[in-house]
Amino acid sequence: MRNQFLPFSPPCLGDEERDEVMDTLRSDWITTGPKTKAFEGKLRDYFDAPAVVGLNSCTAGLHVGLLAMGIGPGDEVIVPSMTFCATANVVEHVGARPVLVDVMPDTLNLDPEAAARALTPRTRAILPVHYAGHPVDLDAVFDLAGRHGLQVMEDAAHAISARHRGRLVGSRSNLAAFSFYATKNITTSEGGCLTGEAGLVEKARIYGHHGMNRDAWKRFDRSGSWYYEVVLPGFKYNMTDLQAAIGLHQLDRLEAFQRRRREVVAAYGARLGRLACLQLPVERPEVVSSWHLYVIRLNPGHLRIDRNAFIEELKARNIGTSVHYLPVHMHPHYRDKYGYQPEACPVAADAFGRMLSLPLHPGMTDQDVADVCEAIEDIVRLNPA
Ligand SMILES: *Cc1c(COP(=O)(O)O)cnc(C)c1O
Repeated sequence: MRNQFLPFSPPCLGDEERDEVMDTLRSDWITTGPKTKAFEGKLRDYFDAPAVVGLNSCTAGLHVGLLAMGIGPGDEVIVPSMTFCATANVVEHVGARPVLVDVMPDTLNLDPEAAARALTPRTRAILPVHYAGHPVDLDAVFDLAGRHGLQVMEDAAHAISARHRGRLVGSRSNLAAFSFYATKNITTSEGGCLTGEAGLVEKARIYGHHGMNRDAWKRFDRSGSWYYEVVLPGFKYNMTDLQAAIGLHQLDRLEAFQRRRREVVAAYGARLGRLACLQLPVERPEVVSSWHLYVIRLNPGHLRIDRNAFIEELKARNIGTSVHYLPVHMHPHYRDKYGYQPEACPVAADAFGRMLSLPLHPGMTDQDVADVCEAIEDIVRLNPA
């Protein structure tokens, strides 16, 4: 058994990030400025997106994205229940109703048929999540949206580098929100960005910067002007140059990070695939997953311990794990406000009871991967049904 705790998803930072942050601290510009501009440009090139705005979180991006799309009171937005709470919370923030729908048994992504059944005359948008980095069935989502005149915004918090039919998530004209939170595939500590068509992204930028008109952040710079006008009551969601300093170098590392993630995933699959008690994550043939998470499910009837005990057994063997997620419709706020029973989204509820996320990050060594597999094999051997 390993004697050092293996964290579930620590950040991978290097000297370049540290030096760039120090360089920023030594400059006289620590908030939104030239490095944020440079990071936005680099992200735009990476995604080949029409436009990009850097923000202080993905949640902020989803919030101002909905505002830019004109979603508000009386509107309904289709949201998969198997997601982080932020995806639904932002819909509440704008006064609209998140309509929580079930997910597909294989990918745990939005079930397009469940989404179709949930449409009402008030439905204005679909907010799919690329769960664990596996792209949602975008053909089905855009088809449904097209037939019913709905807007689409992608929660791409997990999905930087993911591809659907060869096309990079975040390269389209609809809005897509990415997260650079500490546990995500690349990080700026806290941070995020929104990609999409220029008109929508610029509107979102204004919503995220007090509602000030363009480039008001330059007002303390020699090239800027003291004059700005507030065109709508916005929020304070701007990315800082300290965050962008980290992001500039994290983006350079993304390809190498992804290569290592895929190696870890392949090693998990080769060894854990032999255990009948486990359901392993899939990658459909038409996608490239960004493998943000490695979510396994315990098959019923194989073990005498449940998921929670399984997690404790792993912890006792110094393996960190997590659970993604308690479905949104089962959180007290949503359950009580909208009267959801767990069975409202049966696939999500069932998956939640059986799932755990194994350590997956580019810093993992072959020995780390072997340690996780060995711990799991040990637990399975000691706990037959
Ligand atoms: C992390 C995450 C978010 C929020 O990202 P922040 O940058 O922390 O705001 C939103 N949606 C999903 C699915 C996430 O995993």
